[in-house]
Amino acid sequence: MTTAEVSDEDFQEILAQTRHFVRTAVVPREQEILADDRVPDDLREQAKKMGLFGYAIPQEWGGLGLDLAQDVELAMELGYTSLALRSMFGTNNGIAGQVLVGYGTDEQKSTWLEGIASGDVVASFALTEPGAGSNPSGLRTKAVRDGSPVDAPDWIINGQKQYITNAPTADLFVVFARTRPADAKGAGIAVFLVPAGTPGVEVGAKDKKMGQEGAWTADVHFSDVRVPAGALVGGSEDIGYRAAMTSLARGRVHIAALAVGTAQRALDESVSYAATATQGGTAIGEFQLVQAMIADQQTGVLAGRALVRDTARKWITDEDRRIAPSAAKLFCTEMVGRVADLAVQIHGGAGYMREVPVERIYRDVRLLRLYEGTSEIQRLIIGGGLVKAAQKR
Ligand SMILES: Cc1cc2nc3c(=O)[nH]c(=O)nc-3n(C[C@H](O)[C@H](O)[C@H](O)COP(=O)(O)OP(=O)(O)OC[C@H]3O[C@@H](n4cnc5c(N)ncnc54)[C@H](O)[C@@H]3O)c2cc1C
Repeated sequence: MTTAEVSDEDFQEILAQTRHFVRTAVVPREQEILADDRVPDDLREQAKKMGLFGYAIPQEWGGLGLDLAQDVELAMELGYTSLALRSMFGTNNGIAGQVLVGYGTDEQKSTWLEGIASGDVVASFALTEPGAGSNPSGLRTKAVRDGSPVDAPDWIINGQKQYITNAPTADLFVVFARTRPADAKGAGIAVFLVPAGTPGVEVGAKDKKMGQEGAWTADVHFSDVRVPAGALVGGSEDIGYRAAMTSLARGRVHIAALAVGTAQRALDESVSYAATATQGGTAIGEFQLVQAMIADQQTGVLAGRALVRDTARKWITDEDRRIAPSAAKLFCTEMVGRVADLAVQIHGGAGYMREVPVERIYRDVRLLRLYEGTSEIQRLIIGGGLVKAAQKR
């Protein structure tokens, strides 16, 4: 079991500050974020100052050093507003940053982690490719050793990644590439640290997405990109696939918590609307069928919150780092989809109008069931894992 780097008292302070920031500084500017498709620079600066680009990076490297139990509490606060806010520093703390924290050499950590923790460096996680999303073991981006220098040859990377979060602003790509065909020894996938300015790295145009305005994704192309031997994460070709899977599993608990935060917001919007909007002079919240929708929303939020807290605890104690994260992501992201749908229903026609928060929420949360493993993939991990364990007994 790992011990938290941050005392409960200090953490409560961080949590209160984050809650204050989200509710008083970001919530009032949600329409601006949506209309401009951009998180305003002053909010970005405030987030940087608060340490939010590195809340899950160890203190040794300048981060806040939150453990996963604290991370999920923070995520439940961040989920309360436009998900673009969290996305801005999500890859630094999560899928990209955790590859370095868990698997980087000391030299790689000291080169990159402080910048990542401060927000001076934006790190992107580049795994998905056309035809290799749910099944990344099929990825075709290739890294081959060059002949020189003889003692520590460079790597040459060629390939294409798609839907890469924060690619348009990234300083560093954490790139998964095949160094050999999969064999009995492993998937043959390594992971490399590729600075965005390296010749041959080309970031495509910003994707036009369904929701999460202000959070940017793009394709990234690698054409004969030369990186030194020291760019290979952990100095080993064999850790790429494991690093991706561990980083994604941890990320799933965080996404589950984010979903709970957004579901709480959708519930709050629904309750306040139901309490005040009237039909025929009666507040719609007095109709029992509307109360039933609110009851289903509340039940989902409470169940999701309990599940993410339990899952984070099991991660920290190492009791379950596979089935529970997938179950939490599956349940909470499906739950928020249903809660957001009910929120639109409770708002009636108003729920279909731009500038009404639940309309944005309905679109924002759709992504949560797709990335970091679709709901189908979570079911395969859970069901497959349980059956395999039973067969081993
Ligand atoms: C906005 C956004 C941001 C993203 N950010 C990143 C990022 O930063 N880095 C990154 O690397 N990736 C990122 N992704 C990629 C994301 O993780 C993938 O899109 C996701 O894993 C699904 O892969 P896919 O799109 O190839 O769909 P597919 O894998 O083709 O899935 C299509 C459908 O088939 C189903 N399916 C696939 N395989 C199976 C199976 N074996 N059994 C049953 N059903 C199956 C899926 O569940 C789904 O319903 C992002 C995606 C989006 C949309």
